[in-house]
Amino acid sequence: MSLDTPPLALLLDVDGPIASPITRKVAPGIIASLNALLRVGIPVVFNTGRSDAFILEQVMAPMIAAGIPARSVVHAVCEKGAVWFSFTANGPGTIHVDRDLAMPTSFADDVRSLVGESYADHMFFDETKRAMVSVEQLVAVDNDDYLTQQKLFDSDVLALMSRHGLGAVRLEHRYPAPDGDINYRVDPSIISTDIESVRLGKDLGASRAVELLCAEGIVPAAWRTVGDSRTDYAMADWLHHQGHEVKHVDVRPKDGVPTKPYQVLTAADLGLGADIIHDHAGASFLQAWLDAVRG
Ligand SMILES: [Mg+2]
Repeated sequence: MSLDTPPLALLLDVDGPIASPITRKVAPGIIASLNALLRVGIPVVFNTGRSDAFILEQVMAPMIAAGIPARSVVHAVCEKGAVWFSFTANGPGTIHVDRDLAMPTSFADDVRSLVGESYADHMFFDETKRAMVSVEQLVAVDNDDYLTQQKLFDSDVLALMSRHGLGAVRLEHRYPAPDGDINYRVDPSIISTDIESVRLGKDLGASRAVELLCAEGIVPAAWRTVGDSRTDYAMADWLHHQGHEVKHVDVRPKDGVPTKPYQVLTAADLGLGADIIHDHAGASFLQAWLDAVRG
């Protein structure tokens, strides 16, 4: 197998930089840019907390409808590294699940009941997750109202985890199991709460991305990672630590840009205003990379 060394490979968080956090859908211009980047030989890998079902419906289907180049393979690492698959113009391949990284079923069942009994007006239980337990804001609900309910929900979830003997960490607070273990994480985002193995993360997703490309004989000269959360920096942290050339794009730098040993880019670096965030910033960066590769 001959080695392919594209100048760039893209490792993309989905919610925020690609899918609108408002509509949860991907704008047609972003779909067109992704296909155009594939056409010029730039590998595209998604690294998301979303399920494979979400990626199939919201990302793969519109990319296929718009015309994925015939020989392109797109990889999708889902559920923060617990699930992964690849797709082409012909559709998806096998969906892989690392069962060791899944939440206990009895706990997931209790979370489903908790949502049904107390939180169904604001959120829904994501039935498409295979390893994580995710509870998401209903699109019709106001985000401020959701965020208020989310705090109550998260504290109910931590109590439930304690009853199941599951040690957890939420943000900087630790809630160990009776044996002292903390094997799980409660991770609140602006539109959902994920409950997951502590081994999951965007760093695991990045390692799977490198492996998936390597298996195709693709070793990119540099990576560009894109995200809207602090946890997304873990992609670039991991790649940098492994010796890969990487720059990270933060499409929602409202929380402040941390100091990193690699370059962090925001919409301001494209000469855009601070109001260009989320998928609007994502779209601008995809276009900028396309322009750069096309020369
Ligand atoms: Mg995101």
